[in-house]
Amino acid sequence: MFPPFTLRYARLPERFYERFEPVPVREPRLVAFNRPLAESLGFDLSAFDPEEAAVWFSGNVVPRGAEPLAQAYAGHQFGGFVPRLGDGRAVLLGEVTDRDGRLRDIQLKGAGRTPFSRGGDGRSPLGPVLREYLVSEAMHAMGIPSTRALAAVTTGEHVVRGVPEPGAILTRVAASHIRVGTFQYFAARGDLEGVRELADHVIGRHYPELESRQGGERFLALLEAVQARQAALVAKWMGVGFIHGVMNTDNTSICGETIDFGPCAFMEQYDPQMVFSSIDEGGRYAYANQPWIAQWNLARLAEALLPLIDDDTDRAVELATELLQRYAEQHEAEWLAVMRAKLGMQQPKPEDKTLVEALLASMHRGRADFTLTFRRLADAAESAEADASLVALFERPEEIAGWLEEWRQRLAHETGSESELANRMRLANPAFIPRNHRVQQALTAAMDENDFGPFETLLEVVTRPYDDQPGREEYARPAEPTERVFRTFCGT
Ligand code: AMP
Ligand code: MG
Repeated sequence: MFPPFTLRYARLPERFYERFEPVPVREPRLVAFNRPLAESLGFDLSAFDPEEAAVWFSGNVVPRGAEPLAQAYAGHQFGGFVPRLGDGRAVLLGEVTDRDGRLRDIQLKGAGRTPFSRGGDGRSPLGPVLREYLVSEAMHAMGIPSTRALAAVTTGEHVVRGVPEPGAILTRVAASHIRVGTFQYFAARGDLEGVRELADHVIGRHYPELESRQGGERFLALLEAVQARQAALVAKWMGVGFIHGVMNTDNTSICGETIDFGPCAFMEQYDPQMVFSSIDEGGRYAYANQPWIAQWNLARLAEALLPLIDDDTDRAVELATELLQRYAEQHEAEWLAVMRAKLGMQQPKPEDKTLVEALLASMHRGRADFTLTFRRLADAAESAEADASLVALFERPEEIAGWLEEWRQRLAHETGSESELANRMRLANPAFIPRNHRVQQALTAAMDENDFGPFETLLEVVTRPYDDQPGREEYARPAEPTERVFRTFCGT
């Protein structure tokens, strides 16, 4: 069933990981399987049998050619450095080559206690597994770089998180699971050779265009490339109202994918200070902070790379600082590109930023739903008859009326017919996101009633985010006050 494994990470020095076999579970049952993804990864599905698949995706049997291991990494968690985190409940089986010739990690998350587990049980409850499945697939469908969900199995065992909950394992696919924290792990031990080997591995895998760079410049170029991907990634998050929730350096992928969907959430009523995570008491990872947290995390990567950038520490700091200072401008350019596309503005104009900020300010004051505002603007671009349904999203209709007029004047500079413009906008503005109350309903039905129907329907809806889906209008609706989710939990 599995395609052949490549063992690139497993061939790195032994100190990069701990070898570890998944701990078998009692009664694995396949509850979700991503067939299109499996096909794109080269899985042989000709004799697909869910019972057999459950055995593989639980880790009860390790596929031939895999060399399971737990990766070592460190990380800043909420600003505090932890020198040794590592995969406490995940096992990397190895990499496979997908249909496009790209290497993809296959990891089982929730596979049992590893040498990095510390006090943890090495397991995952079903709720967070399904949440990650839904949200990562929705992100991918929206065109946002993300790890993917290949399969979910329940284990037939309970995990205790205050109360006993059904256990589950997620099979996660990523361009790699290397994090900023992986670099920090070696740097913190003064293992410069480790940092260098990791950097070479990352360049070979994710930034092959840097292969020819030599000397200190090679590592500065790596930092620059990671910075560019982070700036672009976070801009895309901002464009869909996504709040990651735990942007620790160990949850910051080196290749610029969204990774680790713990207490993440999409905001409904627009509020730049929005925080959902129950553990983010200071609001460190609030929506509007995300670009700056990414920069902070990049500075931690820079610190790990400094000795490789230049033997002269002052010179290395100077070079890295110069680069990091360009981040603000870079992020703003990415963000403006995202927002221009959302507003149907193809030809950049100097006043665009002011126009975008004015819209956001009135959305904030009017407590307008983030997703619906932009989606309905697409309708408004086509016909002023749609204005009423847009204005209805705002607590103060007068707020948006003036702005709409300005925007229409701005659109006069655009080419193409009104319906072309509207269709273009619909491809930049999802109609469907995994709304928190819907996610919660899907998880509850699965956990409490063993009913995966709501999960499956929601998955179908959010993986076609840009299509109007007749009959599914309910899924586009924001939570009623009684349905609203104010807090999300790591639930690990
Ligand atoms: P996370 O909050 O999922 O990003 O995890 C942070 C760290 O805690 C990582 O080193 C994880 O491997 C570890 N961890 C999280 N949950 C568990 C668990 N149930 N058992 C063991 N380690 C865990
Ligand atoms: Mg993590």
